[in-house]
Amino acid sequence: MTGSPVRPGFANGREKNAGGRPGADPGLQDGATAMFPEIHEECGVFGVLGHPEAANLVYLGLYALQHRGQESAGIASSDGERIIFHKQMGVVADIFSEDILAKLPGNLAIGHVRYSTAGTSELKNAQPFVVDFESGSIAIAHNGNLVNAQRLKNELEVQGSIFQSTMDTEVIIHLIARSRLDRIEDRIVDALSRVRGAYSLVFLTRDKLIGVRDPHGIRPLVFGKIKGGHVLCSETCALDLIEGEVLREVEPGEMIVVDEQGARFSRPFSHVPPRFCIFEHVYFARPDSIFGGSSVYQVRKRLGRQLAEECPADADIVIPVPDSGVPAALGFSEASGIPFEMGLIRNHYVGRTFIEPQQSIRHFGVKIKLNVVRDVVGGKRVVVVDDSIVRGTTGRKIMKMIRDAGAKEVHVRVSSPPTTSPCFYGIDTPLRRDLIGATHTLEEINRYLTSDSLGYMSIEGLHSCVPNEGKGYCDACFTGDYMVPLEVEDTEEQLPLFRGSVRI
Ligand code: AMP
Repeated sequence: MTGSPVRPGFANGREKNAGGRPGADPGLQDGATAMFPEIHEECGVFGVLGHPEAANLVYLGLYALQHRGQESAGIASSDGERIIFHKQMGVVADIFSEDILAKLPGNLAIGHVRYSTAGTSELKNAQPFVVDFESGSIAIAHNGNLVNAQRLKNELEVQGSIFQSTMDTEVIIHLIARSRLDRIEDRIVDALSRVRGAYSLVFLTRDKLIGVRDPHGIRPLVFGKIKGGHVLCSETCALDLIEGEVLREVEPGEMIVVDEQGARFSRPFSHVPPRFCIFEHVYFARPDSIFGGSSVYQVRKRLGRQLAEECPADADIVIPVPDSGVPAALGFSEASGIPFEMGLIRNHYVGRTFIEPQQSIRHFGVKIKLNVVRDVVGGKRVVVVDDSIVRGTTGRKIMKMIRDAGAKEVHVRVSSPPTTSPCFYGIDTPLRRDLIGATHTLEEINRYLTSDSLGYMSIEGLHSCVPNEGKGYCDACFTGDYMVPLEVEDTEEQLPLFRGSVRI
């Protein structure tokens, strides 16, 4: 593959393509990148203690967090004596019925939604994990990826541990079970002092709800309350749904233990600089959630304004790639004065592009998911705003649809820098060689997309738009600057799952 990694900025296809076939493929072909990483996590967690309908609240919370994972979901509750749980492959609405929720009693429950990409996904990896060990039962729900899990697993297996799943999370369970400390919270700290990477965790025991966020605070975790009860969840939008109150974000490296006596807070790990995932602001979190005191919606709008400053376009309309591109397109429109229109309509009954496990289906997925409004784009010079370009396959399909609908010109503007490096901390990204921003120049990407011009946000611009002016963020997907050192030989792929038996 030719071309050095793309730098943020601007490419004008009409100039660069002069003399060449517009839209000539710079080396990528549809279907040519059909390499798939192992399963990786994008997850949401929710826990509540002190409410008589705990499992029902978790069910609602998981509904609000469904965008963080659509592959499997589960709820575990405690009736004060035992932990009862139900988990299944699929989305929350399909898994839980009134009957099942009625069988999850108690005022204490946690839940999890999980997403993965590859074919070996199966029930044994669904969470919460529930185990019984010498000092009782415990359920765990994890958002994030551990970077030293494979080494720890090898060590544990040599000492006799038998693993049930192929998930990094199970390492934490084994370490807790082996700890010689008395209190469960001390065992959890003992276990976590050996793991490195990203973890926002909620635990449930017979009588406690425990939340822990890794020392860098890479993935989000929020603390709130509802009618005498306490809640821990991935995003504030889940608290909005259950009419709870956001108290604050769990601090990086903080542990919160909640029981009938109330909540206790500690910072049991050594302090390191915070590194919240900047991509939560760009794409992953719901726009109605709040992080660092700013709504994700407002951050995305700011990104759109900044993008209009950095990469202006001479055009008649601005259209978003819905849904995630909408706030940035509104910001672009505001700052540029170019009218905002909905030129693409999303079919909401189809999941996110990346859910499809096969490249062939993913291409099809773009078509069934997005349709163009011919009246809006026909005869117009169009600016298309998206939040990110990963493989470039969505953008190329969209370009074709818009051109087929009669647009005069199509200019692509992206409200984040080129995605050049895989995430090792819990967001699903393809192999580095499948990231178009890692392998192609701006001009090549512009040609591949078949756009008239292409502009990406600068990394400085991105940092200027997030809360705290970009201090304390992980931006490794855009810079390759991995804050938590990796224990992998090359950084081409995401961390693989453990090898294990496969149920068919
Ligand atoms: P691609 O076709 O691979 O370039 O996909 C780009 C589209 O996927 C953009 O419209 C993004 O909104 C969306 N996207 C970006 N990152 C992810 C991710 N980790 N999981 C799912 N979708 C994503």
